[in-house]
Amino acid sequence: MAIREKNFWLSTVEMPTSDSAQPLPEAVDVAVIGAGFTGLSAARTLAKRGAKVAVLEAHTIGWGASSRNGGMVLTGMKLGVNKLISMYGRELTQRMYAASLQSIDCVEQIVRDENIRCDFSRCGHLEVACKQKHFDDYARQVEVIAREFNHQLRIVPKSELASEIGSYLYYGGMVDEISAGVNPAKYVAGLAWAADQAKAEIFENARVNEITRESRQGEAGWSLKTAKGNVWARNVFVGTSGYTGPATPALQKKIIPIGSYIITTAVLPETLAHELSPRNRMIYDSKNYIYYYRLTPDRRMLFGGRAAFFPETKDSIRKSAEILRLGMIEVYPQLRDTKVEYVWGGTLDFAFDIMPHAVQMDGIYYAVGYAGHGVAMATYQGQKMAEMIAGDNTDNPFVGIPFPGAPLGMYNGKPWFLPFAGAWYKFLDWVS
Ligand SMILES: Cc1cc2nc3c(=O)[nH]c(=O)nc-3n(C[C@H](O)[C@H](O)[C@H](O)COP(=O)(O)OP(=O)(O)OC[C@H]3O[C@@H](n4cnc5c(N)ncnc54)[C@H](O)[C@@H]3O)c2cc1C
Repeated sequence: MAIREKNFWLSTVEMPTSDSAQPLPEAVDVAVIGAGFTGLSAARTLAKRGAKVAVLEAHTIGWGASSRNGGMVLTGMKLGVNKLISMYGRELTQRMYAASLQSIDCVEQIVRDENIRCDFSRCGHLEVACKQKHFDDYARQVEVIAREFNHQLRIVPKSELASEIGSYLYYGGMVDEISAGVNPAKYVAGLAWAADQAKAEIFENARVNEITRESRQGEAGWSLKTAKGNVWARNVFVGTSGYTGPATPALQKKIIPIGSYIITTAVLPETLAHELSPRNRMIYDSKNYIYYYRLTPDRRMLFGGRAAFFPETKDSIRKSAEILRLGMIEVYPQLRDTKVEYVWGGTLDFAFDIMPHAVQMDGIYYAVGYAGHGVAMATYQGQKMAEMIAGDNTDNPFVGIPFPGAPLGMYNGKPWFLPFAGAWYKFLDWVS
């Protein structure tokens, strides 16, 4: 059987779809751009509070990274804790770390309240060390995280690693029991149903092409030109992540779109699946050119990585299938003869400081920059920004932190430097 260039998760769910004949309303309280975790979480929260909300999606519900990811609902942020403390100081880093833990509770709460059947499970995550010095650094991180954030992680020495992973490749690991796993396509579909239940209106094939300031009946607001017509909104919230485009030029210059790719194997025999991941963890390694992997709820190995740095194209997806298969066999030689059945790609959003950002720029609200930690954080930021738009005095430690653009302004939204960045990361993995 050939590999399907197709997203496995989408084969497990019927995605909801909006009524294509429904015209855009003339005016709304909030126009939300993007129907992924960020936008739908915000729309749900706002609509539950009585706001008139239109979600404008260029493609279809969940079309972006939200249906394409590994489904790892992770604690922490992309940057290590020592780096965070050096950038923001102790107090703000403590609030950020606490927010990253709350973001997982936030997903769990929504799943429970909305009765979303998305295989959410608190199975914990395992980070594995590709070098001895990475493993040595785990001990320092565990100590800082326990002391500064009152959160316990567990070190797993190489001699005990077989209880966590059926691979001999690594120098040890670090476990966080709080992280969870989810089927992301089922989750984003459930969020869309929940937003719809709350009376938010979702419009597919409604790409926003232009946003301009415009008053209506004496009230300040925004006119949005979309592929489906125009709509006026009192407030605009943007959750376009790695697919941010020219409709929001100021944001586009601050976000680097980076490709990530995933393969899934055929369904594995129970004993083999148990041998590969005895505790069913969400697993990722310590490299910059990262591999992340897990079992799917139906017992396939899902194996992802930045096989190419470029956002997905048919060509990069095809090439990634073989690169990732070889990576998977390096980790798990047991899978040498196992068929790969699916391959797909998606685009991540990185800010230049690799941090999440929740901001109001020139009057428009944004939440972006999840850097591969977006399942929980995007849901959380959508909710928090909705509370902010609704006028609450909500605590969000990511609001107001500096949001740097490219050094010397050498970036117009087209990531010409990605081939160099890819090579740079490979070099870093070699030397560090
Ligand atoms: C392959 C892959 C694996 C990943 N694995 C993980 C993981 O295991 N754990 C984790 O935490 N994170 C992971 N991530 C990251 C995570 O998926 C994202 O951070 C998260 O989905 C972002 O959600 P979002 O709603 O902000 O953006 P998206 O889901 O990308 O949605 C943005 C939407 O905006 C729409 N849009 C863009 N421009 C416009 C416009 N002008 N008008 C209207 N609509 C527009 C797009 O069509 C898109 O649907 C992964 C990402 C990828 C690509």
